[in-house]
Amino acid sequence: MNRIVFIYIRAFFVMLICAAMLFCLCGCTVNDNNPNNVNNDIVEVPKPTSYPTPTFVPTVEPSPTPEQTAAATPEVTGAIMPGETDNPLSEEKLVALTFDDGPYGEVTNRILDVVEQYAEYGVHVTFFALGSQAEKFPNTVKRAADLGCEVANHTYSHKNLTKISEDERTSQVEDTADIIESITGTRSKLVRPPYGAKNDDVRATVKYPLILWSIDTLDWKTRDTDSTVAEALKAVDGDIVLMHDVRDDTAAAAEQIIPALVEQGYKLVTVSEMFEAKGIALENGKAYRKAR
Ligand SMILES: [Zn+2]
Repeated sequence: MNRIVFIYIRAFFVMLICAAMLFCLCGCTVNDNNPNNVNNDIVEVPKPTSYPTPTFVPTVEPSPTPEQTAAATPEVTGAIMPGETDNPLSEEKLVALTFDDGPYGEVTNRILDVVEQYAEYGVHVTFFALGSQAEKFPNTVKRAADLGCEVANHTYSHKNLTKISEDERTSQVEDTADIIESITGTRSKLVRPPYGAKNDDVRATVKYPLILWSIDTLDWKTRDTDSTVAEALKAVDGDIVLMHDVRDDTAAAAEQIIPALVEQGYKLVTVSEMFEAKGIALENGKAYRKAR
């Protein structure tokens, strides 16, 4: 009798344990992130993770400066009328200061010091460099290019292009273009013929636009800073001003000219920047004195 009772009691506890396990199993399934328990075998509901959801933070791109926008503007392949470009410089008064026959060590660097000092005004100038001088002062050429200035081509050794053979004319120009490109990484786009000398032979064989000037400061002749300053400050919109970065009196003049023109509201730009802003497409072999 006692044995039968014991068997019943044991069976009762076994059932009780089984019931408890079954209850626990069901409870766990119901709570397994699927409170509705709908199609539990098919729909896989992702478990919430403790990792924070990545938040998309947009990268803030700096607004392009006028200079960057100008550089990004596609090259104009045909002549267009001024005002048809969306170049931000097209509405500005522009002057291109140009310096020939350098680079020349301390003189060129004094001019570059002023350019750097006025960088916030986007001041750029153009150097028509001799290939022979660029070889002597490559760091100065590089500094000019790094400051956004244009390093253009004034031939290798300042020979009158109208008085030499076609082969020599070509080497005077192309050797210099090679030297400038090897230093700056950019091939110069413009040529200024020494003495401004040009004829049909020059126009036919020099495969670059020929850039002359509209204001000659005669700095090489007067050697007088005040005179150079006075002549340069006659510049108006579209003018190309001729100076030479070979003498201290011209560097001293540049130290006055650049602040004065900035004060007058002029944007000092490179020759290429000025023609681009004016919507004037430069053609190889053609001569230009100003951008207007
Ligand atoms: Zn020259």
